[in-house]
Amino acid sequence: MNTPRPPLRSLDEAMESLLSHASPLPPESVSTVEADGRVLAEDLVSSLQVPPQDNSSMDGYAVRRGEIADEGVPLPVSQRIPAGSAPQPLQPGTIARIFTGAPVPAGADAVVMQEDTEALDDGRVRIQRVPSEGQWIRRSGEDITRGSTVLARGERLGPAAQGLAASIGRDRLQVARRPRVALFSTGDELVMPGQVAPEAMKPGAIYNSNRFFLRSLLLRLGCEVQDLGIVPDVREATVQALREAARTSDLILTSGGVSVGEEDHIKPAVEQLGSLDLWQIAMKPGKPFAYGRVGDAHFMGLPGNPVSSFVTFLLLVRPFLLKLQGASQLHPRALQLPAHFDLQRPDKRREFLRVRRDAQGGLELFPNQSSGVLTSTVWADGLVDNPGGQAIRRGDLVRFLPLAEWLA
Ligand code: AMP
Ligand code: MG
Repeated sequence: MNTPRPPLRSLDEAMESLLSHASPLPPESVSTVEADGRVLAEDLVSSLQVPPQDNSSMDGYAVRRGEIADEGVPLPVSQRIPAGSAPQPLQPGTIARIFTGAPVPAGADAVVMQEDTEALDDGRVRIQRVPSEGQWIRRSGEDITRGSTVLARGERLGPAAQGLAASIGRDRLQVARRPRVALFSTGDELVMPGQVAPEAMKPGAIYNSNRFFLRSLLLRLGCEVQDLGIVPDVREATVQALREAARTSDLILTSGGVSVGEEDHIKPAVEQLGSLDLWQIAMKPGKPFAYGRVGDAHFMGLPGNPVSSFVTFLLLVRPFLLKLQGASQLHPRALQLPAHFDLQRPDKRREFLRVRRDAQGGLELFPNQSSGVLTSTVWADGLVDNPGGQAIRRGDLVRFLPLAEWLA
């Protein structure tokens, strides 16, 4: 079957089209402690106040301000309130020993830290000066009020959010099911590190590096990865691998073999088994990116060049996988930063340059922007998103996309 070749798309059009195919996966319940990196599939509404009651933020004494004077007043200690205990109302004319996190007794309107007091021989304690209203008291509900939404559906959970969920008593959460991704690399030149020693490499052979970063990128996005290894540049083998991958996965992700050469079998194999909806994007690196369907699975074919593979993953695969999980934030937040370099001959395609922030907060450019130079992606801490055909002069503000947010 030979379908007509779809036209080269702009990145924005490609993104929109891709995202329109990503309908959310069903929710499942996970333990809050295991929820790091998962996407919340419910609004978390608090049924209690946090903190639950007024409590002390210091070790010291709970007092009635009206009973204290600036010249210092000695008062008897009528109760001792450690954290976790339930105090009696504060007896008039007395103070209460209190510790950090302990509930403030009814009647008390301030806490005096122990450093501002003096213990007398007769057991009384002198409060040196009048505290301000509410001093060292953490108010009930100052973090969370009953009935408020503390985390919204679509939030991607991290350590702080896990803690927040626990603070309202949630030990389990509804999150989107993990996307199942089948991954394989194509290329007769590829060998796996560990299978062939560097000194035993045959002429023309290279190590499969894409598999290593793609797998890690997928795991960081909460995916279950089925690793189908290396598939040779043979049509039938490619068809077989796609067929197997489609059986079990939500997404089939491949690298290499998606250009126009005779050794590129991905495109015809996908067309044989399913459909190819998108092929080639006006961007650099990463022009040969493909999207289609094989059976019930989505298919994404990344270019073989390592930097192209890395960049197209971040720009296209990542938001797709987040949308599958119902995430509300699909893209990193861009910053406008000054270029500390010149780009005299821009590409006519929209280009993603490997850059790094310097100590002055400007951007340095990695000298070799070739799509085969993986060193650039380790050196870089972000990409500049440069419109097609636009030269950059030192000092120009450019659109910087931080890798740290992308890799989170
Ligand atoms: P392709 O997209 O298959 O034409 O490959 C483009 C370039 O990327 C070629 O130089 C390949 O050798 C290289 N390449 C393809 N796949 C990988 C991989 N998994 N790891 C490292 N380099 C690769
Ligand atoms: Mg190839």
